[in-house]
Parts: sequence; structure tokens; C-alpha cells
Amino acid sequence: YSCAYDALLNVFYNIWAENTPKWSRRMRLNEHMNILINSFEKTKEHHMTLEQARDDLRIHLNNLNRMKFPMRRGAGTSVADLCETLLATESMGSVISICTKCHNKIEVPIDQLMFTCYRNSRRDNLQEALSHSVKQWLKSNLNRNGTYIGVKCCRTNIKSISTLEKLPRIIAFHLEGTKLIPDKSFSLTIETKRIYHLRGLVYFGEYHFTSRFITKDKNIWFNDGMVTGRSCTLEGNLRDTNLETLLQAGNKTVTLAIYAE
Ligand SMILES: [Zn+2]
Repeated sequence: YSCAYDALLNVFYNIWAENTPKWSRRMRLNEHMNILINSFEKTKEHHMTLEQARDDLRIHLNNLNRMKFPMRRGAGTSVADLCETLLATESMGSVISICTKCHNKIEVPIDQLMFTCYRNSRRDNLQEALSHSVKQWLKSNLNRNGTYIGVKCCRTNIKSISTLEKLPRIIAFHLEGTKLIPDKSFSLTIETKRIYHLRGLVYFGEYHFTSRFITKDKNIWFNDGMVTGRSCTLEGNLRDTNLETLLQAGNKTVTLAIYAE
């Protein structure tokens, strides 16, 4: 079933459509996004529908990994797996974990632009336990002194230091199970400051995904691929929306928040 694709691609498409030359350049992060952006460009010329664009991407990903991206009836794709794969990129930084007992050093690159927001090591992470929003979580995750993200060595949790060396254009957060509130915007600074605005939210519940897209002028549009097809419903403006209400959409709970420069 394709609703994970519908929900996430609705957000990506609307970001892209606001400035197609700019986002065509910026979104070509990898071969999957190349295929998707080529398809988006064809839809603009009416040589393709969005449904065909989605199906082409689905077939491409299914050929790469039939377990993660199944095509058979009744088998669903995780929207987090999909987002992580689509936002794979060249290395933007690193996560370094050093064991205080054996001095073993584990280094992994930050090579995709989706952050998974952990809350499972609450007891160790005072700061993370105090994080109520995406912005606060990101600040504690990028803390120079390190944070506990679930890496273990010598039978103990060890701290990891996450460092971004380049600023991405688009960032997603996997929020499932965290209750972290999606901020309207946040900034990151590496030499220059870049501001990221909330542009989309993906919701999950009862085996179905839906999404919200936020335009440049902060209008919030709701999309349910299955019910409304390509038409969206205007729900209000982000400026006068209580951010906590964005944690839910009907009986579904937020699972992804997508920010773009
Ligand atoms: Zn160790």
C-alpha cells in the first residue's frame, strides 16, 4: 500500500513546487531523489502525473530492497525508512562515541538528513528529558559535551558527540513516541546562520499515513492521499496555531517533521 509515499511525497512536492529551479538543485541528494525530481519536472510539463511519479519511485526502491519497500498487497512501507532513504546524502558531519573504560572509539558519518529523536535514555540525559520541542532536542543532540543516544560499550551506555560540518537545506525528524512539539522554526550556525522553517508533518495511525504541508506564508494544508487524492484542505495559519495541536491529526499521531531552509 502506497500511503507512506503519498504522505511524504506530498510534503516534498510542495517544497519543490514553490521554487522549482532552486529545489531541483537542492533536492538531488542521491539517485532516488534524482528519479523523483526528474519525475516532478515531468509533471510540470504534464508528461506525467504525481501518481506515476510515486509509482516509479516505488518500483525503483522495491528493486533495491524488497523487504523495506514491498510492493505486494497488504504489506506497508515505514515512512521513517522511506524518509531516511530519500534523505541519504554525502557526509555532513560525524557521530563520535568514545568509551571511558576501554577508550574504544566509534565514528559514524552523518550521511542522511533525518534525525531519529531518542527518548529512551531519559535517566542518563537530563537535558533530553527536559526537551519539550524539536529545537531543544536538536540542541541537546548537538551538545559539544556529547549525549547518550543508545551507544553501549563495556556494558555501559557511552556518550556520543554529534557534529555537523555542513548545513543541510532540508532536515527531517523522526518523532514517533517522543511527544516533542514541532517548533515553527530553528536555526543552525556554521560560519553563517541558516534558519529552518517547519514545512511538513507526517502522521500515522490505524495502518494509514496522512500529512500536513505548511506554505511559505504559513498556511497549513491537510492531505489524506486516500480520501482527498491530490486536493488538500486549508486548516489555518501556523501563526495562530497552538503548536501542541500539531502532534495529532484526527486519530493519527505525528511521526515525521520536515524543515527546510
Ligand atoms: Zn568499552
